[in-house]
Amino acid sequence: MQLRYRFRLYPNGPQQAALARAFGCARVVFNDALRIRKDAHEAGKPYPKIGDLSKQVITEAKKAPERTWLGEVSAVVLQQSLRDLDTAYSNFFASLKGTRKGPKIAEPRFKSKRDQRQSVRFTANARWSITAGGYLRLPKIGEVRVKWSRTLPSTPATVTVLKDAAGRYFCSFVVETAPGTLPPVAPEVGIDLDLGHFAVLSDGTKIDSPRFLRRAEKRLKRVQQALSRKAKGSKNKEKARLRVARTHARVADARREFHHQLSTKLIRENQAIAVEDLAVKGLARTRLAKSVHDAGWSQFVTMLEYKASRYGRTLVRIGRFEPTSQVCSACGVKDGPKPLHVREWTCQACGTVLDRDINAAVNIGRAAGLAVTACRAQVRPVPVPAQRGEAGTHRDGQPTVVGITSL
Ligand SMILES: [Zn+2]
Repeated sequence: MQLRYRFRLYPNGPQQAALARAFGCARVVFNDALRIRKDAHEAGKPYPKIGDLSKQVITEAKKAPERTWLGEVSAVVLQQSLRDLDTAYSNFFASLKGTRKGPKIAEPRFKSKRDQRQSVRFTANARWSITAGGYLRLPKIGEVRVKWSRTLPSTPATVTVLKDAAGRYFCSFVVETAPGTLPPVAPEVGIDLDLGHFAVLSDGTKIDSPRFLRRAEKRLKRVQQALSRKAKGSKNKEKARLRVARTHARVADARREFHHQLSTKLIRENQAIAVEDLAVKGLARTRLAKSVHDAGWSQFVTMLEYKASRYGRTLVRIGRFEPTSQVCSACGVKDGPKPLHVREWTCQACGTVLDRDINAAVNIGRAAGLAVTACRAQVRPVPVPAQRGEAGTHRDGQPTVVGITSL
């Protein structure tokens, strides 16, 4: 299976200039080819083959005085840019025909100098390499310092170098890895996405976003407000925009890290996991929308999915079925919808005290055919008075951060 690895790059001044040139040339070649493609389409002519295009927008173009600077950049980078355009078009056509899974793909658009994200790709032909000293050697750019935060399982053929909105540089590799193995374990678990928590497990565990992530999110809100107060076109506005981009990047990183740790933990500890396949589009119109997007649920589920297939675990996405809050997870009796503020109720049929979130998580696991067991907090005999907020809530009302053991 293929996995993507991303590392931070620290190019020095001249290297940054060389990268800026590469981004620019890749963009120009892409746009020139796109222009030819659009013109051909309007004239009702067939799309020129990639070889002809490459001759036209690279080889021939270099001879023109206004394009000689294309020669300052590795030819592979330019070729790759054309290939990217080709891929963008075939994805677009496949999406039109409906032969491609996933969301609709838009027609390729011209790239702008002001695009927030710029990238170039080096293939094996480009003779890029990782030096003995751990630098990334890129043709016509030099040896760039890399922070290797993980070990690459094998030598990748291709490297993509990119610069994000926050002005940070990264290199990204797609690596082929053999599936690993984890010793089999017994537990199977259902996970419910919830308003008040990041996720609730059928075993009664309630998981919240970690404090550092919530702090970063608060800070993001603050810098965004500051940005909106700055005068249009001012220097301060530009500074504030960069501050927002940096904070945004920090939040996204923190969130990804949290998703990685939690998904790894869940995959380690459970043989099978069931999640609800949320139609996020349908939710977008409800008040759940913000929390769904903020929680990055789909990023998290994607991680669960590839880690499950990598380590021989089972991930079941269940379609939207009858509302999970309407069925008692103890006896299976359906007793109708309950308003959102009802967090806990007693089943009229069997007398079990049910926690809304845990009940939902158990039902999700059951619907996926898993042997989920509701232990903690879920099943309680009636005579015990329900204690307010016992599961996952501190005395000050702050949700609990479930400790993630080192992975
Ligand atoms: Zn019941």
